[in-house]
Amino acid sequence: MTTSDVDSPGSAARPLVAAHEVSKVFGSRAGEVRAVENVSLHIGVGETVGVVGESGSGKSTLARLLMGLQPCTSGRVEFDGQDLATVPGKELRVLRQRMQMVFQNPFGSLLPHYSAVANVMEPLRLHGRGTKTSRREQADALLEMVGIHPGFGELYPSQFSGGQQQRIAIARALALEPDLLVCDEPTSSLDVSIQAQILALLGELRQKLGLSCLFISHNLAVVERLADRVAVMSQGRIVEEGPTERLFEAPEHPYTRQLLGAVLPVTM
Ligand code: ADP
Ligand code: MG
Repeated sequence: MTTSDVDSPGSAARPLVAAHEVSKVFGSRAGEVRAVENVSLHIGVGETVGVVGESGSGKSTLARLLMGLQPCTSGRVEFDGQDLATVPGKELRVLRQRMQMVFQNPFGSLLPHYSAVANVMEPLRLHGRGTKTSRREQADALLEMVGIHPGFGELYPSQFSGGQQQRIAIARALALEPDLLVCDEPTSSLDVSIQAQILALLGELRQKLGLSCLFISHNLAVVERLADRVAVMSQGRIVEEGPTERLFEAPEHPYTRQLLGAVLPVTM
């Protein structure tokens, strides 16, 4: 255990997901891209960990490694104590249902020819959960939970605003009752005032459902709102990590200070 583990309020919790010295190298004709280099990071049960860093620093790649969506070049990822690289396919399919993702572009992540409620029902149908009637009831309840009146459930994604689309995408991500929600720049495509509403919603849901969250943003102000602990990434590496308050009050790494100097506001 390192000193930062001891300092961190959330680290007392059992780790739900843990990356151990993971690296990801992409090869191309132009040469190698070391997207993630020797990163160790864990997220405790019920904990929210923020990852910040500029575009291209490896945040999304790290998220995909943590979710087992891409294999690590080296190192390993454990979800609930199981090594994602060695879990048999059938069990991995079950584990995957426990980790869900919310993306930057909600419209692109929804099925355009499915209504809002059908989008939320889809993961339940795919995994054979319940009956058509129970899936419908569950989807209505999920839409209500994210602030979309179920009366609007029959509308198509294009008929909603960006913020509403993101609410529908969040409802869909929650349909399988995941333990881990990975939010990759979930507010970056939204207007500033809408960003604050979506952040407030994610904060509420996390509390209510006891979710663990990985929250990725290039905007430190966004991460400060939600994260218990923050990891700062630069060029594939974590250059600094600590409890959110400490990191904001006394940043140690020059790159963190540089990011803090360029904080974009989030109006509440
Ligand atoms: P971020 O999410 O912080 O913007 P990414 O994880 O998307 O960063 O990318 C990190 C680096 O890895 C970038 O240089 C990017 O071009 C490269 N990269 C990401 N995915 C791939 C891929 N599938 N093939 C080749 N290079 C990739
Ligand atoms: Mg990214």
